[in-house]
Amino acid sequence: MVQVRAPLPVRRDRVADRRRHPVPGRTVSAHEAVLRLQREAGNRAVTRLLGGAGHAGRRLVQRAPENPPVTTLTPSGTLTPAQWTTAYRAAVAKPTVAAYEALFRDIAVTAGMRQLPGFDLTTIPVSDGKTAKPGLNLTLEPAETGHTAWVDRNGTFGVRLRPTRKQPPDVGIAILLGPLALDADKGLSLRTVRHEMVHAWHKVKVLEAVRGWQASRAKVGLDAWLETQVERGTMTDLDLALVSKGAQDAVSDTEVLAYVEGFSQDFHRRAPTMAAATFSFFELLGVVETRKVFPWSNADPAVRREALARLRDYRATLGPDHQRLWKEWLDRERGKTVKNQPGRTEFLTALAAFVV
Ligand SMILES: [Zn+2]
Repeated sequence: MVQVRAPLPVRRDRVADRRRHPVPGRTVSAHEAVLRLQREAGNRAVTRLLGGAGHAGRRLVQRAPENPPVTTLTPSGTLTPAQWTTAYRAAVAKPTVAAYEALFRDIAVTAGMRQLPGFDLTTIPVSDGKTAKPGLNLTLEPAETGHTAWVDRNGTFGVRLRPTRKQPPDVGIAILLGPLALDADKGLSLRTVRHEMVHAWHKVKVLEAVRGWQASRAKVGLDAWLETQVERGTMTDLDLALVSKGAQDAVSDTEVLAYVEGFSQDFHRRAPTMAAATFSFFELLGVVETRKVFPWSNADPAVRREALARLRDYRATLGPDHQRLWKEWLDRERGKTVKNQPGRTEFLTALAAFVV
């Protein structure tokens, strides 16, 4: 279980803008089919995520995690932890698309990725980092962990959404996973996958909301329309923040919840020692800073409340050794003098209210 891997990976810049590199000659029919699937399934998923209509007033805290919990590391048809470790070591020793595709599919199924619209995992295309297809993509680029972004009909990965009142969003949702997302331990390979799935679910919400706004023929802009949904009780403040900022491709809100997810998929699976938990705490500090972005300081108050509520819930599931270690880590971090990290003190102070 103890992971000794140095140096720490570069913080993921997950929703990065990518240069546009149109790829001529790509077929669009499959793309369109997946888009349709993502939209249709997204309807149901978002209805579920938003909760029922008719709820009067604003719900201050809504804990409806994007991903269902991982209840088993070995769902039907997937590798046992021992088989995983063998397959992982073989892939590292001889990196081939086939070897990694099997691993990415296995961990994606285990993580519940097939519930994301358009992520049926029958094929996992190889991406060059600039192009991708809707759904899960892989790369053998050794320094890649994971990214989630819009992909357009040309296959350009990382386009902006730019919603307009009439033009239906012609983008799909793509996740790109690389070798650094994985670990010799199967359970410790969930951190990045689940982090990216949170981004993907937030993009499902954005697409659905944009479609709802367009279908309403409202005379107001998207943000004003979203506000009316909150007033009517069909949307929470949390979703308002995620959708409004997400439609502008802002990353802070979604990163806060994604790093919370990564941490809570990982920490309890490690031995309760500071050395073993290094990667977990590294993930947790992504809430404060991820490459050039300071999620916590820029996040909406509703997102912050949700993040803290999820972390508080997660802490309650931990055994005493992990609870003690988390407190020890927090005390150590709060004792450090760290400059130029807006939001750091605020986040750590907020944690101290329940990491005791
Ligand atoms: Zn992220």
